[in-house]
Amino acid sequence: MTQTAIKKLKNFINGEWVEANTDQYQSVPNPATGEILGEVPISTKEDVETAAKVAREAFKMWSKTPVPKRARILFKYQQLLVDNWDELAELVTKENGKSYKEAYGEVLRGIECVEFAAGAPTLMMGEQLPDIASNIESGMYRYPVGVVGGITPFNFPMMVPCWMYPLAIAMGNTFILKPSERTPLLANRLAELFQEAGLPNGVLNIVHGAHDVVNGLLENKDVPAISFVGSQPVAEYIYKTAANNGKRVQALAGAKNHSIVMPDANLDLAVKEVIAAAYGSAGERCMACSVVVAVGDVADSLVQKLNENANELQMGNGLDEGVFLGPVIRQEHKEKTANYIDIGEREGATLIRDGRKDESFHEEGYFIGPTIFDNVKPSMKIWKDEIFAPVLSVVRVNSLEEAIDLTNQSDFGNGACLFTQNGSDVRYFRENIQVGMLGVNVGVPAPMAFFPFSGWKNSFYGDLHANGKDGVAFYTRRKMITARW
Ligand code: NAD
Repeated sequence: MTQTAIKKLKNFINGEWVEANTDQYQSVPNPATGEILGEVPISTKEDVETAAKVAREAFKMWSKTPVPKRARILFKYQQLLVDNWDELAELVTKENGKSYKEAYGEVLRGIECVEFAAGAPTLMMGEQLPDIASNIESGMYRYPVGVVGGITPFNFPMMVPCWMYPLAIAMGNTFILKPSERTPLLANRLAELFQEAGLPNGVLNIVHGAHDVVNGLLENKDVPAISFVGSQPVAEYIYKTAANNGKRVQALAGAKNHSIVMPDANLDLAVKEVIAAAYGSAGERCMACSVVVAVGDVADSLVQKLNENANELQMGNGLDEGVFLGPVIRQEHKEKTANYIDIGEREGATLIRDGRKDESFHEEGYFIGPTIFDNVKPSMKIWKDEIFAPVLSVVRVNSLEEAIDLTNQSDFGNGACLFTQNGSDVRYFRENIQVGMLGVNVGVPAPMAFFPFSGWKNSFYGDLHANGKDGVAFYTRRKMITARW
C-alpha cells in the first residue's frame, strides 16, 4: 500500500513514516467534491527538531557521496516519476482541483526539474586559473550548504517542491520539506518514489503542518538555508525572519500579472492565450494573467471575444473529460473571491461576466465561474490585490507607454506579456517593463527548470532565484583556494 492510500498522513523522517507529535489534524477535502481525502497532521517544533537532527546527521554522509553517484539516483527517480505520471497527475487534480490536463503538465514541469538536477556533476564544477602570479594558482570549488528547509504553497503541489528538493539534494544538501497543509498528499508519494530510487535515509524529510513547522525551520540552527514559495506577506515575513536568524533565503511571492494587447495583435491568438492564462488552474497561478491592458481601439472587440470564449469554458471536476475550469481551493477562498466581485462592482468597474451566476457556483465543490471586469482603474482594489481566482480585469489605455506605466505601478513584478506583431514595440516593452518574466505572444511565460524563475519587486525577496544557475548558486557555497607550489 502506498502512503497516498493512508488517510491519516504521516511525516517522513529518516526514511520512515512516523506519526507527528501532535493530536491536531486538519481535513484535506477534494475541492471539486468536498470528499475528505486525508487528515494532515499539524506538526510541532519538536517534530522539526527531530527532522533537523536527522538531516544534519545524513548530511555528513550525503555531502561526501560522489556527485555522479548522487546524480544516478536522480536519473532513477526521473524514471519512476515518468512511470507513475498518471497517478501523480490524478493526485494533483484531486487535492488541488485543477484539470487533469493541467495536472499532467504540472507533473512534466516537476520531472524537468529532476532532469536539470541530474546534471549535478556539470552544474557543480568550479573554476580554476593556473597562474594568478608566478607559480601561484587559484581555484573555486562548490560545496553543499547543509540542511535546507523548503516551504511550499497549495497551487503547484508537484512543480514547486520540485523547484527545491531535487536540485538541493543533487548538490549534496539534505532537505526538510513542509508542504502546503491544503495539498499535502502528493509530497508523500514523491518522497516514497525517491526512496524507491535509492535515496538514503534522512536525505529528504517531510514535516507536515502550518505556522509552527515554518517557525521551527526559521529558528533551527541546524537549518542554514530556506526556500519559500507562497503569498507576499508570508514571503516578506520568511525573508526577514530567516535573514535575521543568519540564514540564506529565497522567498518567491505573489503577483498581479498584466497582458498588454496592441491594436496590431493577432486577436484570436491573444484571446486564446489570455483565457488560458486567466482561467487555467482557476486563476490560482503566480503567473496567471489577472489584468488585460487593451491599447487603443482593440478594446471593444477584445472584451467581446474574451466574454464569448469565457462562456465556452467547461467547468467541473478536473478529472472529468473536457473540463477546463476546476474549483478554487477552499470554500473560504470562493467566498473571498465573490466578495472581490462585490468590491469591483462598488468601485464602479463594469461587470461583463459574473462567475457567481454560473450554475456550478451553487454546486457542492468550491466553484466560481470566469469573471470579467471592464473599465478597471488603477485606483481600484480589484486592480491592486492579487485575487488568485478566475477574475480578469480589463484596463483601457491609449498607448504602449501608458500600458507599461500602468503595469509598472503595481507593487508586484512577476510576469507581463505583450501581444503584438511589431518588433520595436517588443523592444520597448522589454527595456521598460519592471517585471522579471516577460512573454511575447505567449500568455504564461514561466521559465523552464534550467532558467531562473525571476520575479521582481514584491514578487520576490532575496537575490538568488529558484532554478537554473541561480538555484545551483543558492544550494552551494564556494571555497576559493590560492596555492603556491
Ligand atoms: P501561503 O502564503 O498561504 O502559504 C505558503 C506556505 O506558507 C504554506 O506552506 C503555509 O503553510 C505557510 N504559511 C502560510 N501562512 C503562514 C504564516 N503566517 N506563518 C508561517 N507560515 C505560513 O500561500 P498559498 O495560498 O499556499 O499559495 C498561493 C500564493 O503563492 C499566491 O500568492 C501565489 O502567487 C504564490 N506563489 C508564488 C509563486 C512564485 O513563483 N512567485 C509560485 C507559486 C505560488
